Amino acid sequence: MFVLNSEMATNGKTKVHVPLELLNIWRDNRQLDKDSHEAFGALIGSQSECASEFWLDTCTLPQKQDSATRTSFNLRASHHQRVVDSYFKSSKGTLGYVGTWHTHPQHTPIPSNVDISDWCECIKRNPDRRLLFVIIGQVNMCIFREVEGIFECVYKEEIDE
Ligand SMILES: [Zn+2]
Repeated sequence: MFVLNSEMATNGKTKVHVPLELLNIWRDNRQLDKDSHEAFGALIGSQSECASEFWLDTCTLPQKQDSATRTSFNLRASHHQRVVDSYFKSSKGTLGYVGTWHTHPQHTPIPSNVDISDWCECIKRNPDRRLLFVIIGQVNMCIFREVEGIFECVYKEEIDE
């Protein structure tokens, strides 16, 4: 297990720890070129009992079987699930699925209606935990979570070096 390098978010309710390695993965996958496709995957980490604090560990990456365009992606869940399961096993149950991430070709990402309905499905499928949803824009990254039926941006950070 590697040491968490940066403490990313505090808005009173939600604190998210993001390791530098993960930030670098997101930076490298930004949609900076005109023809770059959306990148996406599952977030792997853990959360405090009251879900006020999250420790992100790593994420899954787009696979051959997945398809993506500039403004959409289609995640084949089985591969991503296998990766999450292997982290769950090797961490003896400490690490698990804690949400999703994807990129947007926008300066500051704004969730689409498709994103919102996808996030609602993720929440429905995982009633035993709270989830985070990360969108990586070209300059800013935003972390969203559902708070009383509304997706709030709990953290926004410039990801540009
Ligand atoms: Zn999106």
